[in-house]
Amino acid sequence: MKCIYCKIDNDRVINSRPSEDGMTIKRRRECLDCGRRYTTYERVEESPIKVVKKDGSRVDFDRKNILSGLEKACEKRPVATEILDKIVSDIELDIYEKYDREVDSKYIGSMVVQKLKKVDQVAYVRFASVYREFKDISEFIDELQPFLTKIQKKSKAKQKNNNINV
Ligand SMILES: [Zn+2]
Repeated sequence: MKCIYCKIDNDRVINSRPSEDGMTIKRRRECLDCGRRYTTYERVEESPIKVVKKDGSRVDFDRKNILSGLEKACEKRPVATEILDKIVSDIELDIYEKYDREVDSKYIGSMVVQKLKKVDQVAYVRFASVYREFKDISEFIDELQPFLTKIQKKSKAKQKNNNINV
């Protein structure tokens, strides 16, 4: 850090003290060239990544939004909260790694869809349909087909059982 008096960059930190709220650190420095002392403050850079929504508006990235979307999709599904937390953390890390200022909400949506697909198929279809991640209705039906077949088989089996019972 350049000395504010002689502008020479040759200093040592005499002491560092965090502020009460822990958000800043105050450092007392001594210039080794002119011997004068000055103070610097260090704080966390407050620039949360912005999420660009479909309508072009921007909101601060907030992991809670992803989590609540996931929770809705997983309602009454056997998916542990820890798994949802892990998904959100993975997505968060990925975003912070790849993006600096802005990320498209579509990108986040597609990440959620990808991860949810591996965890719970029903939740995946719910999420994907809500966020309109399917290109068109036929793609949606294709994804649904395995469930429909399963449901049909189940109800047929049920009918058979009912018949036997009667
Ligand atoms: Zn100096």
